[in-house]
Amino acid sequence: MPIQNKILDGKEASDFIITDVKREILETIPQSKEIIGYQLEPPTLGVILVGNNPASESYVKNKVKACEKAGINHHLVRLDSEISEKELITHIQSMNESESITGFIVQLPLPQHINVDKIINSIDPDKDVDGFHPINFGKTALGLPSMKPATPYGILKLIKLNKIETKGKHVVVVGRSNIVGKPLSIMLGNDFNIGRATVTSCDINTPRELLLSELKRADIIIIAVGKPDFLTGEMVKDGVIVIDVGINKVEGKIVGDVNFESVKEKCSLITPVPGGVGPMTISALIVNTLNAWKRKYEISKKVSMI
Ligand code: NAP
Repeated sequence: MPIQNKILDGKEASDFIITDVKREILETIPQSKEIIGYQLEPPTLGVILVGNNPASESYVKNKVKACEKAGINHHLVRLDSEISEKELITHIQSMNESESITGFIVQLPLPQHINVDKIINSIDPDKDVDGFHPINFGKTALGLPSMKPATPYGILKLIKLNKIETKGKHVVVVGRSNIVGKPLSIMLGNDFNIGRATVTSCDINTPRELLLSELKRADIIIIAVGKPDFLTGEMVKDGVIVIDVGINKVEGKIVGDVNFESVKEKCSLITPVPGGVGPMTISALIVNTLNAWKRKYEISKKVSMI
């Protein structure tokens, strides 16, 4: 993938992945008829959207668009922000049991009165295409086949497509949430395909002096804290690679956690916001949906042979 002007283009990489998913679905459907005697329907992504948070509306719109590009059907369930936890779990169970839903997501954030962990735990791990369920987290950490957490998976795909070496590199990940920073640190430090890096994982408790010294000697910096201008040019060494996960709204504009202009002066590669990690998260979700569908296809193949 050609790199222009130091920019790690997540939009381009995401389009590339989604086109590939579409090709794979189109090839698999006719093959399924030969193998299992009937033609599989394309995969279907379920989306549960609670309330009408404008940011969530926009993420869901982009996910639906990506499904359309990939040849994946979608089924959107909109629920009132006042819905009880119990009622929400009933909707999740119905998606868990649905024959037509390949995989689904519950768009975060959820209203305060709902316990997010309880919701994530009630999703069937085989349909958890966001890769948030503890079983998927654990399997990912062990390198076993699983749904991978979408944002870290998207970042790894961006790294791979741009042939960025991680083996033996010093990677600093700032932010340690369960859905971004923590799984990302584990995946990059793992000894699989992409990874084999020496990872420093920092969060709010990291003393400022230590954070600054780690950042200054990092080969790759990944910032996922949700604070605009968190990383500035004087905090990094020349030639560093910077991946900005943050999404913040400042004066009506979407910005990341990185002061783009000052960091771009010093780095060798940088992701823009928007157009960097965001589209990669969506393409990872699409790949997880394809994989859930293929897994079901394998099961169908075995069943028909018994
Ligand atoms: P989160 O759950 O709020 O976690 C933020 C993490 O950053 C926490 O570990 C927090 O530590 C740490 N942190 C906060 N201030 C810090 C500081 N001054 N120094 C060091 N660490 C600090 O957020 P998230 O879900 O991981 O998301 C992070 C950002 O990425 C947000 O802007 C979010 O919108 C964005 N995001 C983007 C995508 C995408 O596709 N591009 C996907 C997911 C999230 P404590 O918990 O100890 O406070």
